Amino acid sequence: MKHNFGAGPCILPQEVFKEASNAVLNFNDTGLSILEISHRSKEFEEVIAEAERLVRELLRVPQNYSILFLQGGASQQFAMVPMNLLKEGGKAAYLDTGVWASKAAKEASKIGKIEIVASSSDSNYNYIPKNFEIPSDVDYFHYTSNNTIYGTEVFDKPKTNVPTVVDMSSDIFSRDIDVSEYDLIYAGAQKNMGPAGVTLVIVKDEILGKTSRIIPSIFDYHAHIKAASMYNTPPTFAIYTSLLNLRWLKAKGGITVMEQENIIKARALYDEIDRNPFFKGTAAKEDRSRMNVTFVMETPELEAEFLALSKERNLIGIKGHRSVGGFRASIYNALTLSSVNALVDAMKEFEDSKNKA
Ligand SMILES: *Cc1c(COP(=O)(O)O)cnc(C)c1O
Repeated sequence: MKHNFGAGPCILPQEVFKEASNAVLNFNDTGLSILEISHRSKEFEEVIAEAERLVRELLRVPQNYSILFLQGGASQQFAMVPMNLLKEGGKAAYLDTGVWASKAAKEASKIGKIEIVASSSDSNYNYIPKNFEIPSDVDYFHYTSNNTIYGTEVFDKPKTNVPTVVDMSSDIFSRDIDVSEYDLIYAGAQKNMGPAGVTLVIVKDEILGKTSRIIPSIFDYHAHIKAASMYNTPPTFAIYTSLLNLRWLKAKGGITVMEQENIIKARALYDEIDRNPFFKGTAAKEDRSRMNVTFVMETPELEAEFLALSKERNLIGIKGHRSVGGFRASIYNALTLSSVNALVDAMKEFEDSKNKA
């Protein structure tokens, strides 16, 4: 059995893979593949309606928020957010906590004025800036809740009285949040919701329609809301597979149960990183992500050797991102505690073999 610690696209539950593959051959006993049915068919309308219902239920999304299934990934949201929310001549505030956060800011700066309120680029984004001020005259404040590359996470929403937009691509559905604290949440599916190809957007209706900018319809949240995510052909298979994953999450007991498991998984791995003299964490302790665990070796020359042992032990995808180096174990919802324990065991085995040598 492989233990897939890949950062994204990433592991989904085995039963989701099985059900999705069954539906490729025969969807709900229709004798048709999920890949060939019309997005306008009654069957698919039920799929997207149930997916929306489950998102609303699992995250307790209030009624005055719309839920959209779009394409273009989180990267398209980097552009859509300022197109829809920046007033002409307006300004937006961005928190710079890594590559994704700064890409989001860069795209917004092509649409209007932005201000970076704080940045942790001075120490390779290994912490979350605190105690910064968000100007009260901006159209919105944007941040990234989980920094997939650097292994840092913002657990408490920064306090502000301006609309807040958050990129939750890599920690959505991993912990309980109060959606009403946010004005727009977006997440590329391929980290914790489903396969690549669909992007979840949860938007408070009243923040839209305040710019006089002319927005091409495909980038206009209103057009997608009006068409119930069917302005154009939606990514039907990605939405269906996400639905299977959301059903799995609900059957497990929902987000609070998932969050408890995620806390236990993260603690098991961080405890070993802190205990094992060969390894050390790269992120500031108080900002450690529960989804992406980044660590290096005290002796970098040994990293190739540990990577080879990991491969022998079927631990996949733990090589760190090139901008941090070392290792990154992504421990998303579908990755089990026993997979985390397999990694911890390999770390102990490595230590023992070195101590014997
Ligand atoms: C992966 C990732 C992105 C980019 O997502 P795409 O769907 O590839 O555009 C953006 N933000 C975060 C936090 C990510 O983890």
